[in-house]
Amino acid sequence: MKKYSIAVIKGDGIGPEIVDETIKVLDAAGKKFGFETEYKGCLMGGCAIDATGVPLPQETIDICKASDSVLLGAVGGEKWDTLPGHLRPEAGLLGIRAALGLFANLRPAKIFEPLVDASPIKREIIGDGLDIMVVRELTGGIYFGQRGRSEENGVKSAYDTEKYSVPEIERIVRVGFDLALKRSKRLCSVDKANVLESSRLWRETVLRISKEYPEVELSHMYVDNCAMQLVRNPAQFDVIVTSNIFGDILSDEASMISGSIGMLASASLATGSFGLYEPIHGSAPDIAGKGIANPLATILSAAMMLRYSFGENDAAVAVEAAVDRALREGRTPDIADLALPKLSTVEMGDLVVKNI
Ligand code: NAD
Repeated sequence: MKKYSIAVIKGDGIGPEIVDETIKVLDAAGKKFGFETEYKGCLMGGCAIDATGVPLPQETIDICKASDSVLLGAVGGEKWDTLPGHLRPEAGLLGIRAALGLFANLRPAKIFEPLVDASPIKREIIGDGLDIMVVRELTGGIYFGQRGRSEENGVKSAYDTEKYSVPEIERIVRVGFDLALKRSKRLCSVDKANVLESSRLWRETVLRISKEYPEVELSHMYVDNCAMQLVRNPAQFDVIVTSNIFGDILSDEASMISGSIGMLASASLATGSFGLYEPIHGSAPDIAGKGIANPLATILSAAMMLRYSFGENDAAVAVEAAVDRALREGRTPDIADLALPKLSTVEMGDLVVKNI
């Protein structure tokens, strides 16, 4: 039987509650589709600071590197908010992305049919549901470029640099094309090539790589237009590939279509099949320990793990379908529907398991 090893970082706040439900779902999917999953727990964030003094212990990096993939809950909380930046829980998030070479961030903006009315976008625009995938470059561009400050004649200035090399663009663009091949074979590359030199290099590179993917229909869009089109006519998009800063902004915008932060999954991929899977939301300290957190974003992140790291497509589809069915039978308070029973975190996990 195939066996997959998963490093599990439960983290802080609601992290342990939502990860426990996700492990139940992974186990159920394994039982049904004939694979085994084994888990190795490790610390990151506030709980790691309490236990070891640092947010990302070396042991955690080692365990993650020795695993097939990583499942992460969420980190952070008020208790650690006054620590200096490099010792705060969130430093662990940046540190682990760098340590594991996670250069591609995949954020699905998917709305399940039962939640269409929870979206801020009108039903007539959404139709029966939406399914967009934003592929964001995660380790380059302006967030990592040269920056500084200066002062001349008493006037202060500051600058940040958007810089991309051709190999950096090639590898993220290939992730976009490969994903488009597996989906509806449409890829939209987003840039600002009318103004930025780095975007012109981006576009040239996309055009060159596109020759390797003749089956994929490629389009280009300026980022300002894309921001508008995501609200005006989101159904025109399937896979969007873009730079770090544009992806940061557009993926947040696109994800709001789904209606609730408790539904939003993500994957961060390295070269090969290794990836880290986590919900978009944080550790929600306001509801931690109350047993009411929505575990579906983490469960949907695990579905991405099944698809992208393990190639278990049937199991991934089954988990997503089970989430869809569960949403018709009950809801956690964040997505409550008066016509349906209100469920706890554990009851929602059980319902997904039942529907697999
Ligand atoms: P948050 O995402 O934790 O919470 C925002 C709001 O959404 C809260 O009202 C919360 O109750 C609700 N919410 C979030 N997830 C939910 C879920 N699964 N089910 C139901 N409701 C949910 O953002 P925040 O309050 O700004 O941050 C709290 C802590 O999390 C901070 O320490 C922050 O730094 C950290 N954080 C961590 C990550 C991460 O681990 N990747 C991401 C964002 C924020």
